[in-house]
Amino acid sequence: MLPGRPLFWQIQPIWLFYSLAFIAVCIFAAGLIYRIRLWKTGTGGFPRINSRHLIRLFSEALLGKKIWSGDFAAGFMHFLIFWGFAGLFVGTVLLSVHEYIITFLSGTIYLVYSATLEIAGAMLVLSLGWAVVRRYVQRVSRLENRGSDAAVLIWIGGAAVSGFWVEAVRLTALQPQWQGWSFIAAAMPLAGMGSHTATVWYPVFWWVHALLSLGLIAFIPYSKLVHMMTAPAAIYLSDRTAGIIPVDERIPDGEVHTVADFVGFDACTRCGRCAEVCPATRAGEPFSPREYLLWAQQRAYENAGGNAILRRGILATGTADALFNLHRIWHCTTCNACIEVCPVSLRPPDAIRQRRSAVVEAGVEMPEMLAQSLKNVFKYDNPWEATKKKRAKWSKDLDLTDLSKNKKRTGKTETTDAKATGDICYFVGCTTALDTRAQGLARSFAFLLNRAGVAFGTLGKKEPCCGDIARRGGEDGLFEMKREDALDVFNKYAITDVVTSSPHCYHTLKHDYPLYPAGPACVDSSNLRIRHYTEFIWELMEKGRLVFDGSGPVTITYHDPCYLGRHHRLFDLPRNILAAVPGVTLVEMEHHREDSLCCGGGGDRMWQEELDGEMKMSALRIEEARETGARLLITACPLCLIMLEDARKAAGLEKDLEVLDLNEFLVRRISD
Ligand code: SF4
Ligand code: SF4
Repeated sequence: MLPGRPLFWQIQPIWLFYSLAFIAVCIFAAGLIYRIRLWKTGTGGFPRINSRHLIRLFSEALLGKKIWSGDFAAGFMHFLIFWGFAGLFVGTVLLSVHEYIITFLSGTIYLVYSATLEIAGAMLVLSLGWAVVRRYVQRVSRLENRGSDAAVLIWIGGAAVSGFWVEAVRLTALQPQWQGWSFIAAAMPLAGMGSHTATVWYPVFWWVHALLSLGLIAFIPYSKLVHMMTAPAAIYLSDRTAGIIPVDERIPDGEVHTVADFVGFDACTRCGRCAEVCPATRAGEPFSPREYLLWAQQRAYENAGGNAILRRGILATGTADALFNLHRIWHCTTCNACIEVCPVSLRPPDAIRQRRSAVVEAGVEMPEMLAQSLKNVFKYDNPWEATKKKRAKWSKDLDLTDLSKNKKRTGKTETTDAKATGDICYFVGCTTALDTRAQGLARSFAFLLNRAGVAFGTLGKKEPCCGDIARRGGEDGLFEMKREDALDVFNKYAITDVVTSSPHCYHTLKHDYPLYPAGPACVDSSNLRIRHYTEFIWELMEKGRLVFDGSGPVTITYHDPCYLGRHHRLFDLPRNILAAVPGVTLVEMEHHREDSLCCGGGGDRMWQEELDGEMKMSALRIEEARETGARLLITACPLCLIMLEDARKAAGLEKDLEVLDLNEFLVRRISD
């Protein structure tokens, strides 16, 4: 007799099973359809399929690339759950195909099939056990423990273990020669059950397993298990959840979400990885990206209406406002640390920026100091309340080319002012130009450019604010105004090649400006070449125009600015520059590169009153720098420089640790 197994051995009536299966599928479909109908109230639609989306879907959803980020143990556990579950699901489908479409599960194929299902089941049961240990024994702090989490574990575990039990009873009853291929079920002790008893009891156990499995199917759309479907969708749509609703789709009433936002809300597994890495949460501030997303989900679903019973089934109990205080959206530094670790590619800071925009539009209060800084941007063209004259003061004694001096300048060849010959526009930025500590960055960079013989200039007191603070603060009207002003200035002085001091200006010019189409009121930003100074310095070093010497060994540590590292993946460049300086030994802080800790200055936190927290983010960072034993802490951003310098002083580390901008360090090491 060939190895194989009958599908409904000892089971009667079969119509009852199919009826129950039909009901389960209907309940499943109702929940899914309800969710999809809510998603469709969002704007933006689904993007067209392209190879980039599909590659991301394959690598991040199927291979689970992102589940390993930030927590290897959790990643491995989810990997086992996913593939265990998928293996059993495919096994069940194959059994139906064998029964109703094409007979193929017999002989060797059946034996391999049996062994594979044993392995898949074991992966699932072991990983569920591991999940229970993490949640209820280890009590991993980032995990929330709701009743529904326990229900999910118990239900899946029950279905998986009962599956093994049913198989064990069947093997005991039939005693097939090939039972060793079902090695786990065959080894299960059945409390001395004999063949006859097993035959009698088999249908009972089979129905228990069937009911648990069908119930699980019905339960999926009403539990966090829905992420089995929404996570791949969210990963597929992840560049549409960027908080950047295309301009023609924006309706600034605060309750508009894209389809991708809704999918993202449903994909959130509440795993808390985002909260674990969030610098605001780490600093003990009453804020976490997970709580924000849950709040936004509740709000969106409450407002989208629909069937109240289904809605209650889907949502956690409690109203949105009980979950989160809206005023906490100002805690986010937009550092993107949460995006790095979110296993389903959600982007809380983009959603928060969008919410800030809605809040501003609705006239809800924002932090007082930030409101004043934005007024300053409107009135003085910088957040520092400084007159235009002061903007160029930092370079008074440097005799730099002022690219704005030649008003007729319309191209590189049409110059009437001998001084207006710069090819490169050094975009100093408000903070670098006006803050006395950050001015050291600008003076050092200008020195290096002169030493390398670069033809460059600045816009002097005509340099505009790029609008970063308005963009981060959700003041979209002001941002659009600043963008138009800046592009007009670039256009007026024929500037196409820009090098910035600040990663924030860099991001705004390079990433945010192109989000808005060129219109009659505004020139096109696509003609601009934008570089951060680290990119430019590296180019000069590669060409041999900047050479550094080793005036003694020095141990340094490097702080990755969020808007250079995580936002633009410029992790290696600053390190390459430092490594090329003789005598430098680079030691890394505990958190570095993608995992770096934010200094606390981004996302407009620089322009706000100190928010409640047990510790300042910059203090946490300085402590990490101190622990490396390095004498120098180097960074490449004026905001980081100011924040870290203040934290160093507050920590009383003036004698032990020096905070420098990369340019300042390079000036010390330049060859004569
Ligand atoms: S947003 Fe992502 S990282 Fe945060 S709880 Fe949800 S799934 Fe986890
Ligand atoms: S961007 Fe940074 S500060 Fe904002 S929620 Fe994410 S981790 Fe927290």
